[in-house]
Amino acid sequence: MQKNIPILDPHTFAKPEEVIITHSELDIQVDFAQHIIIGKVVHTISNKMGSDKLILDCKDIIIEKVTLGGNEKETTFALTNPIPFKGSALEININKDTNTVTIYYQTTPQSFALQWLKPIQTAGGKLPFLFTQSEAILARTWVPCQDSPGIRFTYHAKVKVPTHLMAVMSATNPTQKTSDGIYHFSMKQPIPSYLLALAVGDLVYRPLGKRTGVYAEPSEIDKAAYEFVDMEKMVIAAEGLYGVYRWEQFDVIVLPPSFPFGGMENPRLTFATPTILSSDRSLVSLIAHELAHSWSGNLVTNATWNDFWLNEGFTVYFERRIMEKLEGKSYNDMLTVLGYQDMMQTMVQLGQENEDTHLKLKLDQRDPDDGMTLIAYEKGFFLLLLIEKTVGRAAWDAFLKTYFNRFAFTSMNTEHFVNYIKSELFKNNQDLINKIHLQQWIYEAGLPTNCPKVISERFEAVETNIRDWEKGKPAKDIDCKNWTTHEWLHFFRKLPQQISPEQMQELDHTFHFTQSGNAEILCAWFKIAINNKYNKAFPAIEAFLMKVGRRKFLVPLYKALVNSEAGINYAKDIYSKARQNYHYVSTNTLDEMFK
Ligand SMILES: [Zn+2]
Repeated sequence: MQKNIPILDPHTFAKPEEVIITHSELDIQVDFAQHIIIGKVVHTISNKMGSDKLILDCKDIIIEKVTLGGNEKETTFALTNPIPFKGSALEININKDTNTVTIYYQTTPQSFALQWLKPIQTAGGKLPFLFTQSEAILARTWVPCQDSPGIRFTYHAKVKVPTHLMAVMSATNPTQKTSDGIYHFSMKQPIPSYLLALAVGDLVYRPLGKRTGVYAEPSEIDKAAYEFVDMEKMVIAAEGLYGVYRWEQFDVIVLPPSFPFGGMENPRLTFATPTILSSDRSLVSLIAHELAHSWSGNLVTNATWNDFWLNEGFTVYFERRIMEKLEGKSYNDMLTVLGYQDMMQTMVQLGQENEDTHLKLKLDQRDPDDGMTLIAYEKGFFLLLLIEKTVGRAAWDAFLKTYFNRFAFTSMNTEHFVNYIKSELFKNNQDLINKIHLQQWIYEAGLPTNCPKVISERFEAVETNIRDWEKGKPAKDIDCKNWTTHEWLHFFRKLPQQISPEQMQELDHTFHFTQSGNAEILCAWFKIAINNKYNKAFPAIEAFLMKVGRRKFLVPLYKALVNSEAGINYAKDIYSKARQNYHYVSTNTLDEMFK
């Protein structure tokens, strides 16, 4: 198996086969008054072919000056005409022996990786907040770099922020505020650019274990520490499966509610939405997911965004194995059944023949973020589950452990992976390969018929309760004492389409869904409320949409509103007020919907 074969990434202008960045030194200042980051980055380069140009990705950044070498001799550069979503190639004239390139730059209000929050958008309400989201190709909007998941570099950073705020990065982190607002960071393991991350806010740190801890705003830290108390156990469970944790520290930062994702697996410091703080630790599988990325994604990285399933399918599989270790098989079964339902819903929405239902994607002419659906996660997961069931868990686990070890700190594309698994796990046994239909799973649309079927006994009990309720048993007699969030989610999914106003009242009065503190339950209930015109929930729905920016919740709720009697104008009205609270990742999707 060859390593380091050049793989063409359609989403970068960089030519890493000629000149590649190996290390970066950031020296930046975060200016909350102007909403810009200003400073310089010094890239150490390896000029493999004696090229006279270094080509970087760059979007919505102002380049002020570029110099070469330790004595900073100024050089010339050019920016190509910007292409939507991809931005421009920054072409810097270098010499054969140039080893460092310094770029003086500043970001602009269009730098979409950056989300600037007003004090009112934070939990504390008094101080502003900034966080970055670089995946998939937004790192180039705050650092001119070779923005491709196939290119890795180490980094140091010096970041200056207002003195009452703390800065943290995907690197070694402070645990206390400094008096001068200057913070130093070091990431000594090579990472791809999409894992560059920075957050700045009124933060405090609470250690939870030997290698684990949590950052949050002061008013949120107790809740967060309670929710994530088992993180150290999670790391130990993950190591027990697929080998040693390579990033030394595993911390989580709880961001303000406008964070567009559930979590982002920034190395050493997972960024997480506060919507997983459910006060009953029932949504921590999201932390298991981000932790699993420390192997699948951060350690062995998809070479291009077309290979996204190598990051996410493996991570969902790994996440569920961690949860099985911690909570037992019946818990894993629930996650798997919910995942299957989500996948089938995505397939229906996209259409079974849609190319976006291939595992190997074709995102070349698009913003990769537009084609990244649940398919990579769940169809990817079910392929891996099928392989596990076909070869047996022991052989599969041994294979995975070796895979993560052998390709640690490198990137992998689908074709290399297929070759590797055929020879290493299937020993080129054609019968076995035919039985799995690897080709069909990866390069064809829809779901192959050999997809494993998983049932959940705990969900079957939920369905029995629903049937009894439909026949007239009062809601208060539903046997839900030991239900987790997952059982409730299944409950909502299996309720009849049409529910009478009296029944809606009864459910809400009995279980207080509209007042729930659990965002998953709120979102599922609100969809039902919208579809059944349960007006009492509408003020809460509006408040939720004003506050929460997580795309996973926004998209189904706005969709339900658009299709409801309340209608598109009502949805547009809320969106026009709430849009300023959302990150670009979310508005990019929602703007499409309201076009
Ligand atoms: Zn993920």
